[in-house]
Amino acid sequence: MSSKMKIALIRPRFLGRGDVRERLVHNRLWSPLSLARCARILEESGSEIKLIDAQALGLNPGETARAAGGYDLVLLSTSPIDRWECPSLDLSPVIGLCRELRRNRTRIALIGAHGTIRPQEVQKLTGADFVIEGEPESAMVSLGSGETPPKRRAPVRLDDLPFPAYDLLNVGRYRHLVLGGPCLVLEGSRGCPNNCTICLKAMYGNGYRTRSGQGMLSDYRRSITLGARAVVFIDLDFCLNRSGVEEFCHNLSGEPGRVPWCCTAHPGSVDGDLLNLMGSAGCRLIHYGIETSSQRILARLGRPEFKNDLSRVLTQTRAAGIFSLGFFLFGAFDETEAEREETLRLALSLPLDFASFHIATPYPGTAAGDELSPSQPDLFPGVFPGQDRTTLEKWTNRTWRRFYLRPRILAGLARARTGRRPRKIG
Ligand code: SF4
Repeated sequence: MSSKMKIALIRPRFLGRGDVRERLVHNRLWSPLSLARCARILEESGSEIKLIDAQALGLNPGETARAAGGYDLVLLSTSPIDRWECPSLDLSPVIGLCRELRRNRTRIALIGAHGTIRPQEVQKLTGADFVIEGEPESAMVSLGSGETPPKRRAPVRLDDLPFPAYDLLNVGRYRHLVLGGPCLVLEGSRGCPNNCTICLKAMYGNGYRTRSGQGMLSDYRRSITLGARAVVFIDLDFCLNRSGVEEFCHNLSGEPGRVPWCCTAHPGSVDGDLLNLMGSAGCRLIHYGIETSSQRILARLGRPEFKNDLSRVLTQTRAAGIFSLGFFLFGAFDETEAEREETLRLALSLPLDFASFHIATPYPGTAAGDELSPSQPDLFPGVFPGQDRTTLEKWTNRTWRRFYLRPRILAGLARARTGRRPRKIG
């Protein structure tokens, strides 16, 4: 095969129907970082590429397949990097798009979490020609030469990756619910050294890799040049890369034309000094993984121990001029209704600005998912055995309403969306 390939890279359109969580999370318009990095690697190695974000463009499967017409190969992402650890359970948009692509006799390679954890089943379901397991960037050079990439590949070094091909996308379409937009996704690390039992890390592997503070700063500045007015760092725990974050923030403090940014962190990875530094460098929001109030469930989740007082961390966050958002999970293992009630009470009592409530999923490829009976019928089971999805959906919908329909929270949302800092407590 010729070494010059024509490759279309596609993020399909996921239609998160149903509950608030589906509509807000699965339909969110975040830039496809990893796919855009793959595009740049392929382009730099001589392939002719086209990057199609069907989610951002609102293209249905037929329109997406037509946009990819005439290309030798389609590289289709079933879960962009912001969904690597929590991919959508509904593969029907991918299956529908593959059907359309096959009608045009287009060759298809899948990347993403689904094919990484269930390669044979997902290949059969979609009719894809092959599946690229794990981080896709390291497979791009062989792919561009017309070869099937090796299954075992070394983890990528983040400082070696090119800046994503965001210049090929309409940056103006990407938005963050709190920080607004245009908004671009970046990263300061990949992976996490902890081993929580329901955390799907198949795409990241077991290692933990960091990007230098200078590298992050360069990505941040280039994003602004492309029109970004907000930046999301998508790391599993941004603040674990403490030296990188400190270097990034020290260099950013006092930078003219700075735009707000946000990240995710475990509450145990921050302290007052780091929060103050991040706040002075333009950090406006931290998503904290809190999960549950139940020590029993936390122990089963294998969450790293957290000795600080949670309220204190959230108060320090606000004092640093940063809004906080808590992630909560319902239905993990054999969680009882009383434990769910207790978690809701915790969410309502903490000095949080925002919260996000989710149903715990026993993904295959996690310790919890791999313990499920092999006879359970679903390829990607939606809930733990003994939990009822309808009950949990009603519960999460109710908790979203209980949390957000409070004047203090709505006022905070209005402050955040107009670029102001959180109101100080007391
Ligand atoms: S600390 Fe968070 S990112 Fe790390 S393994 Fe646990 S859930 Fe996953």
